[in-house]
Amino acid sequence: MARTCIFCGEDIPAFGGKKLTCGYDTEVVCPNCFDKYADMDEVELAQKILATGRARDAQSLREYVKNQLEREQAAQERAARREEEFLSKHPETGKCPKCGGSMVQYGPLQIKLGEETLMFSNFSRLAAGSMMVRLERCRECGYTEFFTPEESELL
Ligand SMILES: [Zn+2]
Ligand SMILES: [Zn+2]
Repeated sequence: MARTCIFCGEDIPAFGGKKLTCGYDTEVVCPNCFDKYADMDEVELAQKILATGRARDAQSLREYVKNQLEREQAAQERAARREEEFLSKHPETGKCPKCGGSMVQYGPLQIKLGEETLMFSNFSRLAAGSMMVRLERCRECGYTEFFTPEESELL
């Protein structure tokens, strides 16, 4: 008896079936559907199989989809909370002049200056060993601007 493809319902040619992982299970599908669906997200595949009404174990498949969607949502919520926390510490200050990404603020930070810190070698603060700076950094390309809030530190 020929097997039928779970997606399109056509008979699968002898030796033409291809294995495709669709969520909790592996399905043997026809070559056409394999080409069409091989790169697709497993949750989407599982939803497609449910929509055909040909699922061998619709109950488990439905549970799989539900669990995956819940997991995805929880992950998104965690990411949103992390982002919110990050921005509460590092507010956005504007757009990056290089790439247009968002610049966020860091600092004030105390920068330790070593003798080898050529960048600041003209400043008398070098002797004191540190100075306060504020940074703005692009989250897309990493472009960073330095701000030295206290002019007195540079004199
Ligand atoms: Zn098919
Ligand atoms: Zn940028």
